[in-house]
Amino acid sequence: MSDAVVTDVRMILLGTGTSAGVPIIGCDCEVCTSSDPRDRRTRSGAALLFTDEDGHERVVLLDCGPDHREHSLRHRLKRVDAIFFTHDHVDHTFGLDDVRRYNALMKSPIEVHCDLRTREFLERVYRHIFRRHENVNDSFVADLFVRTIAAGEPVDFRGVRFTPFEVLHGRLPVLAFRIEALDGAGRVAREQPGPLPLAYCTDLSAMPPASWPRLRGLETLVLDCLRHRAHPTHLTVAQATGIAREADARRTVFVHMTHDILHARDGAELPDGMELGYDGLVLDGA
Ligand SMILES: [Zn+2]
Ligand SMILES: [Zn+2]
Ligand SMILES: [Zn+2]
Repeated sequence: MSDAVVTDVRMILLGTGTSAGVPIIGCDCEVCTSSDPRDRRTRSGAALLFTDEDGHERVVLLDCGPDHREHSLRHRLKRVDAIFFTHDHVDHTFGLDDVRRYNALMKSPIEVHCDLRTREFLERVYRHIFRRHENVNDSFVADLFVRTIAAGEPVDFRGVRFTPFEVLHGRLPVLAFRIEALDGAGRVAREQPGPLPLAYCTDLSAMPPASWPRLRGLETLVLDCLRHRAHPTHLTVAQATGIAREADARRTVFVHMTHDILHARDGAELPDGMELGYDGLVLDGA
């Protein structure tokens, strides 16, 4: 029996593809023409769902990319309580306009947590949201309140702790998150429910030494795994399996794959405890 205040915790991998998505526009390769639904990958993002101490169902997004609307419709999301962004790239941020629908459904604003660089990007790109008073027409825009976060500074949200830590996406430091349930006293619960503790590490090419402690004792590791060939800003299969072996989570699920990865073929070659994610995969600790 878990001492966590939250229950029914699960993570849905909403999207597991690289920035172009798979199939890639105009490509006739074996993956892009595959009939295996697991080879259809929308842009990466995830949702953490749980029931809080008061019995309310909560939904927290990890990133909100250009396929978010489709993700929401597929999984019938009716609310989003908070969004944690890993970084400012388009494939992780260009769904933010659509969250205004949740504002209408929930009749409340949405908390957005991101680093300073991402905050500046969002405020520039979504000027119509953040400087609404300057809009020519007073249009219906998302209602957000943004909080700047930084690596090493945990954010507690309704019984769940999100600890951002730094990973290197090429030369760009971006955030990954260690997610843990809290107990009634606000400490990390001894018995973690469902897929927790879970580390969500999308978009990286290297794990800095200082971040390794965040990967200790994981139930679930969600990790970048672009393709077999080297890439300047993402992990190869060999690099990803190397990090996964070192981290030794009970279950490692790879995401952010491109069209070099054929699910059935490449998934079968992974070591025990490691697997390729796919759109819609639910991680519930089972
Ligand atoms: Zn990405
Ligand atoms: Zn292709
Ligand atoms: Zn990126």
